[in-house]
Order: sequence, then C-alpha cells, then structure tokens
Amino acid sequence: MEISVAQKLELLVNLQSIDSQVDEITKVRGDLPMEVQDLEDELAGYDTRVSKFQSEISGIKDENSATKTKIKDSDKLIARYKEQLQNVKNNREYEAIEKEIETLELDIQLYEKKIKESNVKIEAREKEIEAVRNIISERSKDLTSKKAELEVLIKESQTDEDTLKVKREEAAGHIDERLLFSYNRLRNNASNGLAVVNVRRGACGGCFNVVPPQRQADIREKKKIIVCEHCGRILADVEQLAEVEAPVRGRGAAAAAAAASAAAVAAMAAAAAASATE
Ligand SMILES: [Zn+2]
Repeated sequence: MEISVAQKLELLVNLQSIDSQVDEITKVRGDLPMEVQDLEDELAGYDTRVSKFQSEISGIKDENSATKTKIKDSDKLIARYKEQLQNVKNNREYEAIEKEIETLELDIQLYEKKIKESNVKIEAREKEIEAVRNIISERSKDLTSKKAELEVLIKESQTDEDTLKVKREEAAGHIDERLLFSYNRLRNNASNGLAVVNVRRGACGGCFNVVPPQRQADIREKKKIIVCEHCGRILADVEQLAEVEAPVRGRGAAAAAAAASAAAVAAMAAAAAASATE
C-alpha cells in the first residue's frame, strides 16, 4: 500500500521524536560512558606493559642461568687443567695449559659481569612494574566509582529506555527501508542527532540557514520530501509564527510595520513577565 508523502513525513517526525527522547536520556550520562571506556583502555594498556616487562625479566633470568652453567663448565675445565699441570713433561706444555686457564678465568669474569648487569636490568624492570601496578590500583578505583555512577544512571532510565526501544522499532517498521537508511545516516552525521526538522523563523531548524520562500511553500505542500540545501536534513514542515500570520492584506506598509512592531513589543513584554516570575 502506497502511503502519501505527508504520511511519510509524519512517520519520520514521530521517529525523530522518539530518537530525540533517547538522546535526552543519553545526554544525562554525559561523558561518563566515554570516561569509563577510556579508563578500561588505559588499564588494558598498563596490563600489557606489565606482562611485557615480566616476559622480559624471565628472558633475562633464562639467559642468566645459561651463563651460570657456562661458568660451572669453565670451573670444571680449569680444575681439569690444574690437574694436568701436575703431570706436565716440559715448560712449553706448562705454559700452554697456563694460558688456557687464564683464558677461562677471563671468560668467567666476563660472564659474572654480564650476570651483574642483567640483575641491574631486572631490578629496574621490577621497579617499573611496581610503579605501573600503583597506577593500575589507583585507576581501578577511579574506574570502579565511575562504573557505579554510570550504572545508577542507566538503572534510573532503564524502563524509559526499554519502552522507547520498543516504540522505536515499531515506528521504524512503518518507514520504507531506503528512507530509513537516509534518516539513520543523517542522524549519525548530525552532531545534535536531528535528521528531521521544521523550518522555523524562515530558517532550517537544524543548521539555521535560510530556507527560501518558494522552498518553504513546497515544504508546506508536502508533495515530495524536501531536504535542507545546506545540511541535507529533512524539512518536515514550516512552523507558523503569530507575527507572520498577522493579516497584512489590504493594509498599508506602515500599518503592517506598526503591527509587526506591536507584536515585537508584546513578545518582549511577555518575555520580561516570564523572567520576572522565575
Ligand atoms: Zn539545514
């Protein structure tokens, strides 16, 4: 069944009103959801850093134990050479063995130096891990309190949100797919979440750019869906204002101007009265 453009616009206006109510609920939460997300990301980053340091430490420890084995092996060799020294036949042989021992002892010194340096590295990494863990525990407290705060806000509006969700599904179901797609895209691109607006005081209700009179007339006719030339939002209707509607037909320009200024004075008086009662 084909529905008229006016009906389509009505459906869109209804959907926009539901979505705007959802936006209002979400707005109350402010930056909290984003702050929670940021903290979670930050904490995940710290966890990664800690496990990176830990695997670095265990790598260094593995290397150290390999070096310790080398020291033990060298010690054994030195002991064996020293035994051989007891049974050497000549000076040349003695000197050769002595040289071997000397080289091995130098190697051991190098190995020991390497282990010392590695231990310094391990200590530094352990200190870094401790520092990161302190940050983690602090940030975790932040996260817990922010999450609790957010949960309260979500709980408060849960019923309303659920109702709106059902309503939205129902409303969206009546709109044809292509139009709904454009609507959703417009809404996602608009910072204020408005995809469907009225012309108000001669301007687009979304971007406040002027809508030419002929276009306004076309919008009023509702023969086709018209969008704002500047922001692309769907212009559902033209809001009528008392001043605009004041009959100026058959009167002179001066009378019209007087009527307009009288209306302005009345509006100002009303505004003053309203602020006085506040
Ligand atoms: Zn616009």
